[in-house]
Amino acid sequence: MEWEVVIGLEIHAQLATRSKIFSGASTAYGAEPNTQACAVDLGLPGVLPVLNAGVVGMAAKFGLATHSTVAPRSVFARKNYFYPDLPKGYQISQFELPIVHDGYLDIDLEDGSTRRIGITRAHLEEDAGKSLHEDFQGMTGIDLNRAGTPLLEIVSEPDLRSAKQAVAYMKKIHALVRYLDICDGNMQEGSFRCDANVSIRPKGQEEFGTRAEIKNINSFRFVERAINYEIERQIDVIEGGGTVVQETRLYDADKDETRSMRSKEEANDYRYFPDPDLLPVVIEPEFIEAVRKTLPELPDRKCERFTQDYGLSHADAGALTSSRELADFFEQTVKAAGGEGKLSANWVMGELSALLNKAGKDISESPVSPEQLGGMLLRISDGTISGKIAKQVFEAMCNGEGDADSIIEKQGLKQITDSGAIEKIIREVLDANPKQVEQYKGGQEKLLGFFVGQVMKATQGKANPGEVNKILKQMLV
Ligand code: ADP
Ligand code: MG
Repeated sequence: MEWEVVIGLEIHAQLATRSKIFSGASTAYGAEPNTQACAVDLGLPGVLPVLNAGVVGMAAKFGLATHSTVAPRSVFARKNYFYPDLPKGYQISQFELPIVHDGYLDIDLEDGSTRRIGITRAHLEEDAGKSLHEDFQGMTGIDLNRAGTPLLEIVSEPDLRSAKQAVAYMKKIHALVRYLDICDGNMQEGSFRCDANVSIRPKGQEEFGTRAEIKNINSFRFVERAINYEIERQIDVIEGGGTVVQETRLYDADKDETRSMRSKEEANDYRYFPDPDLLPVVIEPEFIEAVRKTLPELPDRKCERFTQDYGLSHADAGALTSSRELADFFEQTVKAAGGEGKLSANWVMGELSALLNKAGKDISESPVSPEQLGGMLLRISDGTISGKIAKQVFEAMCNGEGDADSIIEKQGLKQITDSGAIEKIIREVLDANPKQVEQYKGGQEKLLGFFVGQVMKATQGKANPGEVNKILKQMLV
């Protein structure tokens, strides 16, 4: 039996406001437990929530960037359940009328094609507090600092067909919220996390299979692993004669498996109803137009422009626009390199990326500035240094030895382009290797490489390779 995988993601993006969604308490991460929860966040009697206007603009930005409808009227609802980290006994969320709905996002697939993923809705809600199990033997600590932190929950249609596609979609949403400057995207701190809904169906069948929902995954790698584990598990269940039950599961990264948390039967009935403490959110068309004007150039558009302006492939432009910081770094490099787009792309994605990857660093922590890198690339394109010597210069720049020009000067790395000088060195090489000269003249033309190598060795790689080849051929006839 051939199976088709069906996945829908619910992504929680923490909105980057300084204060909470319904109170003035700080949202800063990492404070002492329970120092940033005010009476509203604690759900004390008699308090009234007041909507933070900042989140409305942020949700609208997201809606516009994903071709969605930004609802002229949306409503906050109470989602009722009991848990120690939720002192009010309900979470304020949106249910029937979310602020954003019916949009889409295109993702790039490995075969070079694109796939459109529907965005069902994106709604505003408050986060709950955190239960702390580690420091309290036989007890659970409760930290309510996170209670009331604003979230945008982004729900996709069940349009994803593999774990890889799910990761591509999640990465694209991640890039987008960071471009829009509405979420810091910090996955370690939980600012960006997702629930993955996974089901399988026989290939060709239209009806969806029963899904399991894997909760709270906070890394791209884990999303891929958790989904793949879940697919295998469901196939095993069905092929073993069983049926998949609708349930919530947890991904255990240490064991690389998903485990059942609760089944549909035990699932809560949340008894949603409109929150009587909060007015509906009414958005005027003028507000939406004002928000539209604040949108930056978005990843897809930027990618398109990079292919046109710099002659890059779609894949290269896609990689360079995967984050705003990287795209900016690249464009500043191009500028400093006198417009050399292709060369800059090669170096940013090649040497520089490799170096950053190895050090586990982000582009913002690059040991060379775009101006330095571009300055070095100028010296490649004007023939001062070869591409090979450039690697040496690059390394020195990364070690803080200054900019390219001073390193080239100090270490005497200038390429030898003077044909008289090159001729002289070639003469010496030929005189020192009479046997090879004879063999070459006898028809062994492969030996040209040997001579080039000797000349390069004699000049410590500084001779212009093109010149060397040309002059060698002339002198060997
Ligand atoms: P709930 O609020 O109960 O989690 P929803 O129906 O709103 O459920 O769906 C949540 C997510 O599950 C959405 O992203 C949706 O695309 C996805 N989904 C729904 N049905 C399936 C299915 N059969 N297989 C995989 N994903 C599904
Ligand atoms: Mg759900």
